[in-house]
Amino acid sequence: ENFPGDDTGSTQPRQTPGMFYSKALPTPVNKVALLAWSDELAEELELSKPASQKEIDILGGNEVTPSMYPYAACYAGHQFGNWAGQLGDGRAITLGELVTSKGQKWELQLKGAGSTAYSRMADGRAVLRSSVREYLMSEAIHHLRIPTTRALSLVSTGEPVLRDMFYDGHPAYEPGAIVMRVAPSFLRFGNFEIFAARGELDNLRKLVDWTIEKYYPHLQGQDRVISWYKEMVDRTARLMVEWMRVGFVHGVMNTDNMSILGLTIDYGPYSFVDNYDPSFTPNTTDLPGRRYAFARQAAVAKWNLGCLGGAILPLLSGEEELIKVVDSYDDVYWTAFYSMMGNKIGLDGVRPDDISLITELEKMMATVQPDMTIFYQLLSHLPAETKNKEEVLQHFGESFYQKLSQIQSDLIFNWIQRYRERKKTNTISPEESVKRMQENNPRFILRNYLLHQAIEDLEKGDDSLFVKLQQAMKEPYSAKHDEFFQKRPSWASQKAGCSMLSCSS
Ligand code: AMP
Ligand code: MG
Ligand code: MG
Repeated sequence: ENFPGDDTGSTQPRQTPGMFYSKALPTPVNKVALLAWSDELAEELELSKPASQKEIDILGGNEVTPSMYPYAACYAGHQFGNWAGQLGDGRAITLGELVTSKGQKWELQLKGAGSTAYSRMADGRAVLRSSVREYLMSEAIHHLRIPTTRALSLVSTGEPVLRDMFYDGHPAYEPGAIVMRVAPSFLRFGNFEIFAARGELDNLRKLVDWTIEKYYPHLQGQDRVISWYKEMVDRTARLMVEWMRVGFVHGVMNTDNMSILGLTIDYGPYSFVDNYDPSFTPNTTDLPGRRYAFARQAAVAKWNLGCLGGAILPLLSGEEELIKVVDSYDDVYWTAFYSMMGNKIGLDGVRPDDISLITELEKMMATVQPDMTIFYQLLSHLPAETKNKEEVLQHFGESFYQKLSQIQSDLIFNWIQRYRERKKTNTISPEESVKRMQENNPRFILRNYLLHQAIEDLEKGDDSLFVKLQQAMKEPYSAKHDEFFQKRPSWASQKAGCSMLSCSS
């Protein structure tokens, strides 16, 4: 494209004012070996599984074909609520765009392929641990039917990477790896913030026009910038609702990790919630403030949208229309949220009275803190004959992490009774209601402790759990993978890396 870029190819860390990107050739690694390949995504991309070493080398950055133009994008961001200035692709290198026979365009990007102009103090590499996590979870989120960037391949590099391990605080070497990420675009809020912050309004306008033309072509005419922004607000709000549906906690919702297409992007110290704790954050760096805690995600996303809005303000007719659109976020979010919750508990629709039923459910969940995934599965299989309190509590027993207090038991039982009364008035059949619940409540989730175990095994050369998880994450709503249908074991609550992770990986 005709964007100003820095084509020197130098990886000297530096500020790149006026530039959209910097050319960045992957740094070759020792030996590229294929660890995982996503057949489903490859099919969409019309690619066949690499057979020769030369083809595999492409996935590790050891082979760059003449049709590629490898570059790192320049972007900025707000991190943990503070302006962080220029960041950019420090360890991601876009190889180019692939166009399928249907005309679909996909950006292909290597993560961990070496340093770029934006690597700052870091090495541009990724370790096996974080790469397995990114590979598996981006595909898992896709199979949960949630918008996300994808992962085509995972390769090992045959090179050690030095990391400050969170286990004991001592620096240690870990095996290196590279993921090939795929998305229509990896543009983030931060790509727009950088130009606004630098006062480069021509560049800002260029990028906004290009983004709308390419990814939002249905938006035309005078008002298209504000309409585009409105669509960002809607998509982001809906994405947050989807995360809440499955209990996904992103962990680092900085504005440089917010997709301009409303995709889940940048898989770092994420986690699903096990016990339903609204204040749960998986990111050790986030512990003091819990800014990115499970229940705060919707509010933080709105704050981030505010940053994006501020960045494009110079292209709008005034602040007033912007504020109106930012504030429409709450409406979009809550409408989608209640409708999602209605589906989760098998209602025919959400009536005004149902709002308090749902709010009570959330309060009960936060107080009892059952395993979120298991609780909803058990709810969808609640037998009609469980009439008294003991029977109800026994039915949900598998989902509890501790012995319940009197208050907790009462909360569950009372809620279930109210819920049953409401279900009697459903206009859909009980079968239809169960079907709705099964389609909206995952039965298999990639829990952090499972990932942790799979990675430990992989590092020892045993890929059996890794292979099983790859299979299971493709069918999250089925009961086929019930060997994993159990709450987080108690050893995993204590062990570092099983529930808490750091940003640096
Ligand atoms: P993240 O927290 O993953 O969104 O990363 C924030 C910023 O740090 C981004 O600009 C990344 O490209 C950069 N970064 C993270 N890890 C590395 C690394 N190992 N080498 C170079 N840059 C990195
Ligand atoms: Mg990032
Ligand atoms: Mg990251």
